[in-house]
Amino acid sequence: MISDNPLLKTWTAPHGLPPFEHLRPGHFEPALAEAMRLHRAELDAIAGQPEPPSFDNTLAAFDRAGRLLARIEAVFEVLTASHTNAELQAVQRALAEPLAAHWNAVYMQPALFARVEVLHDQRLQLGLDAESLRLLERVHLDFVRAGARLAGAAQARCAAVMERLAALTTRFAQNVLHDESSYELMLQGEAELAGLPDTVRAAARQAAAERGHAAGHVITLSRSLIVPFLTHSERRDLREQAWRAWVGRGEHDGEHDNRPVAREILKLRQELARLHGHASYADYALADTMAGTQQAVSGLLDEVWPRALAALEREREALQQAMRAHGASGVIEAWDWRYWAEKVRLERYALNDAELKAYFPLERMVEALFDCAGRLFGLRFAANDRLPTYHPDVRAYEVFDAAGAPVGVFLQDNFARASKRSGAWMSSLRLQNRNAPGGGVELPLILNNNNFAKGAPGQPTLLSLDDARTLFHEFGHGLHGLLSNVRFDRLSGTNVLRDFVELPSQIFEHWIEAPEVLKAHARHWQTGEPIPDLLIERIHAAQRFSQGYETVRYAASAIADMAVHALTDAEPPADLCAFEADTLRRRGLPDGVGQNHRLVHFQHLFSGSGYAAGYYVYLWAEVLDADGFDAFVEAGSLFDPAVAERLKRCIYATGDSIEPGAAFAAFRGRAPRVQPMLRQRGLTVE
Ligand SMILES: [Zn+2]
Repeated sequence: MISDNPLLKTWTAPHGLPPFEHLRPGHFEPALAEAMRLHRAELDAIAGQPEPPSFDNTLAAFDRAGRLLARIEAVFEVLTASHTNAELQAVQRALAEPLAAHWNAVYMQPALFARVEVLHDQRLQLGLDAESLRLLERVHLDFVRAGARLAGAAQARCAAVMERLAALTTRFAQNVLHDESSYELMLQGEAELAGLPDTVRAAARQAAAERGHAAGHVITLSRSLIVPFLTHSERRDLREQAWRAWVGRGEHDGEHDNRPVAREILKLRQELARLHGHASYADYALADTMAGTQQAVSGLLDEVWPRALAALEREREALQQAMRAHGASGVIEAWDWRYWAEKVRLERYALNDAELKAYFPLERMVEALFDCAGRLFGLRFAANDRLPTYHPDVRAYEVFDAAGAPVGVFLQDNFARASKRSGAWMSSLRLQNRNAPGGGVELPLILNNNNFAKGAPGQPTLLSLDDARTLFHEFGHGLHGLLSNVRFDRLSGTNVLRDFVELPSQIFEHWIEAPEVLKAHARHWQTGEPIPDLLIERIHAAQRFSQGYETVRYAASAIADMAVHALTDAEPPADLCAFEADTLRRRGLPDGVGQNHRLVHFQHLFSGSGYAAGYYVYLWAEVLDADGFDAFVEAGSLFDPAVAERLKRCIYATGDSIEPGAAFAAFRGRAPRVQPMLRQRGLTVE
């Protein structure tokens, strides 16, 4: 019965949060079908009205339509990413194509597009304010890029391709989750635990317990376990075993093999690009970015790549020396790199990962987030455990501004579990806007997901410095959602061009490295002592040490992404893994390093299309964030009120209501410079 469906009843929880406790997988299909029907009816009413098109009766109304669908889709996406199960995954597979078909129908509705087109043609004569003009331009472009201008058979083919792509990207993500959650490396006895610090042992013990093992330790493919394992395990054979499992995700024969899935996705993307008049999918994807062209992207990658390779070789030499000094023979392999880098870090900078972790208990780091957001932007986060969530590990906060007015809700879901996909991300249940169906304001409901290994019962969860950076990164995205101050949903929060979207997140990472913030919040979990100055100095001294390794691994993935999406042949390479290896060999990627992501498990590229031909965006945004953060350094304070106010007003609050280059220039007073990014990565010769 539709009327019994909690998704379709009025959501009575505080702040319009979803009725999580009443939701069952079986509720989504009927609720989404009903919400799609209502959305179509709203759009038919806009398209069929007798009045000639006006901004209000067409664009503002289009932006207001489909809110029920948006909020049900949002809760569905939250659950499928953060707390899924076999039943929900089956629903997800069943819904991928109907949802894609719905969005095709929205953007291929001729009468609706005709009204948008009329307004777009007259846009400069309509007397629109800047945000309204921006909405008109963006929505018009959304229609065009979704195929509204294609004729007959081409449009039908475009729709079919989009639907098939939705099914394939869903499959790709589920295959990666399968390979991650089905793997475990069981460690038995001291011999197999050799080298692992207590914190890693505790997390591995916890992972074993969660998987139903009464004893023993388990290493999973969750980043927060596999990376410390590769960093500390003295067992080269086990490191190699774990490494191969990690980089082999998606590349196993059988029903979860991602090779044919990725290949078909690439083939369809190429066809889509052709339909839109572009030679390659990279050209099509980049047409709506700050970068604009493949040339601009390769310009940036070329600036970084040779410098990163040179830095990598210097690091390799140091690692090789350490290996010899410890009486180990042979060459550094990919599964050795982190292990020996840790040894060098320890010997050269006296920086010990385990010692450092003791100063980064999760609870304190969450306080650090809120303190920085308070000092920069006047926000206050008040925990409210009575708000409904989908899992007991999720913490809920009501957010207020400096004047005490409500800003929104922030849900933070920090721990890894088998029902959650890997990685860290921000998402939302509702976007800030002042164009609600009743004419009112809607406050944002924002989520952060991390995958930290939970401490054993009674023990705190201790973060590595990298984990703490990730926490700050996602919180930066969260602030982008929370501080949004625009009229239209389409332009709200993180709905920006994708090579701009990492600016608010990456710039926020700078605060966790600031001595002032570390002194205040990085406190030993047992003694409460603030982190010693000496340790902070060592952190900063050691910071650039692995930048060659990190930059090469990242850039290699960005190069592979661009290469595979820049192909202009109708057929993708028969063997994607060989194509990838060959591309990187020709670009000079040395052996024994590896990439951040290989194509067969590269979720950025194949679990959706948001980052396809777009993995470069982190580096692009880093140019912006490094240069942007320098504004605080130049002002002499990391909490300079004038700079913070500009950062909030020009970057965090604007969404896509102004062109991103103009937003940056308004914040910084000029266009971005590349030098601070190179300096930050230790890639300049100084
Ligand atoms: Zn991000």
